[in-house]
Amino acid sequence: DLEIALKVVIVGNGAVGKSSMIQRYCRGTFTRDYKKTIGVDFLERQIECNGEDVRLMLWDTAGQEEFDAITKAYYRGAQACVLAFSTTDRDSFEAIHSWKIKVEDECGKIPTVIVQNKIDLIERSQVDPQEVDMLARSLGCKLICTSVKDDVNVNNVFRYLATRCLME
Ligand code: GDP
Ligand code: MG
Repeated sequence: DLEIALKVVIVGNGAVGKSSMIQRYCRGTFTRDYKKTIGVDFLERQIECNGEDVRLMLWDTAGQEEFDAITKAYYRGAQACVLAFSTTDRDSFEAIHSWKIKVEDECGKIPTVIVQNKIDLIERSQVDPQEVDMLARSLGCKLICTSVKDDVNVNNVFRYLATRCLME
């Protein structure tokens, strides 16, 4: 039977862990080198979801997010979205709403999850669990807390999105 391919875009401020998340999920690795780019537009991983073969293509931004210069090609045809912020970066949390609007402007309404990354650094948190919950509820998105470093919940992010896409 047919394999389903899904383009997933991962947006959020710089340094929240987007590239790391893609590498963790697709290559099983984690490094500390800041500013690494994966050198290609996307990495992919195949999973089985509800008995279907799903090929997830995870698109990385290669740093343009800091200059607000993400091209339309990046968003084009995206079927699911990760809105990512960091536990230790308040600005990245406050930017989530505007990232959601940018994606919606280009892609319309697509299955979206809010990811609070770097949960391993919770003792240095700059956000309140309650305000994070409130934001997720007001944007109508599921919230998943991850540590890409410790490999906590990363698989769940993409399994959730694949499941939502298969329901559409
Ligand atoms: P991007 O700019 O959003 O693509 O962020 P990067 O993936 O380049 O990550 C920025 C920095 O955060 C790097 O030094 C990563 O190693 C680090 N990082 C990413 N995820 C985590 C995490 O879950 N916990 C911790 N402690 N550091 C992380
Ligand atoms: Mg990056």
